[in-house]
Amino acid sequence: MELLDMVIVGGGAAGLTAAVYARRAGLRFVMLDVASSMGSQLTQTDEVENYTGLGKIGGMELIMKFREHAQSMGAPMSDESVKTIAESDGVFTVTASKNTYTAKTVVYCAGASHRPLGVPGEAEFSGKGVSYCAVCDGFFCRNKTALIVGGGDTAVSEALYLAKICKQVYLVHRRDEFRAAKALTDRLGECENVTCFMNAELAEISGESRVTSVTFKDGRSLDVDGVFVAVGIVPNSQLIRPLAECDSAGFVKAGESGATSCEGLFVAGDVRTKPLRQIITACSDGANAVNSAVDYLNR
Ligand SMILES: Cc1cc2nc3c(=O)[nH]c(=O)nc-3n(C[C@H](O)[C@H](O)[C@H](O)COP(=O)(O)OP(=O)(O)OC[C@H]3O[C@@H](n4cnc5c(N)ncnc54)[C@H](O)[C@@H]3O)c2cc1C
Repeated sequence: MELLDMVIVGGGAAGLTAAVYARRAGLRFVMLDVASSMGSQLTQTDEVENYTGLGKIGGMELIMKFREHAQSMGAPMSDESVKTIAESDGVFTVTASKNTYTAKTVVYCAGASHRPLGVPGEAEFSGKGVSYCAVCDGFFCRNKTALIVGGGDTAVSEALYLAKICKQVYLVHRRDEFRAAKALTDRLGECENVTCFMNAELAEISGESRVTSVTFKDGRSLDVDGVFVAVGIVPNSQLIRPLAECDSAGFVKAGESGATSCEGLFVAGDVRTKPLRQIITACSDGANAVNSAVDYLNR
């Protein structure tokens, strides 16, 4: 089996940028992604307006641009799901759904997934009115009533998206102020069909074959056709937790260099400990991690 310089795990914002930098560095590598980057969180984003130089752009369009860029440079990619990553004597063995690869370094960019709300009815009605992605599932609430739970950028962006297609939108946040950027909350104030419930928490999601209502912890209830949960993310770090030190939430401990507690294993994007999880910082991480890996290979 050929010993590669690098395997890049994940083909989102971080992984595709890593692929561009690895190609420019002349490395022998492969970038692995479950499904042609379609698992990236960018695909769940209606409109991105904070990626420098591009103005407003759809999340799907942006990930396709990232992918086409890496492809145009000849970056080797394979659509397969990584199952295990093991390290022995400085060589990583990456077992994926189609092939097994060996490499001197791994740049791990598997991103993050939604955090569940954890209330009764959530799991039961998941896919039957409970969703974690308004862009993916908002159509089932077209001209109906949708409720979003959360107070960050994602929750407010989802509310803005749903306000365009739903009759009524409720936004429920457990604190008295949103954490989302002011530019987003200002736009929310302009939407006549959005009602915010602050200092409020859901106790239960109810329905029959699909969601029909929610109950708050204070006993109030609302009739809704859909519930969109946007209460944060959990890192997709499972595969490297046995190798690299993580914080209590599971984010892989690494600074800007992407270097982890395991020599030769680098992380980039939402999966690492950092203050701001965004597309532009994920791209920056991808570049930094490959740069660090090149230094490691040349040591
Ligand atoms: C709804 C929503 C709206 C957002 N809006 C914005 C915004 O407006 N502006 C902004 O800057 N950021 C926004 N973000 C955040 C932004 O999308 C993320 O910060 C960014 O995508 C992180 O990049 P990443 O490469 O770390 O992860 P991702 O882009 O999520 O990519 C991870 C990739 O890893 C792959 N993968 C995972 N596990 C495996 C495995 N075992 N094997 C192979 N492949 C694997 C996945 O398929 C995926 O393609 C938003 C996020 C969400 C959810």
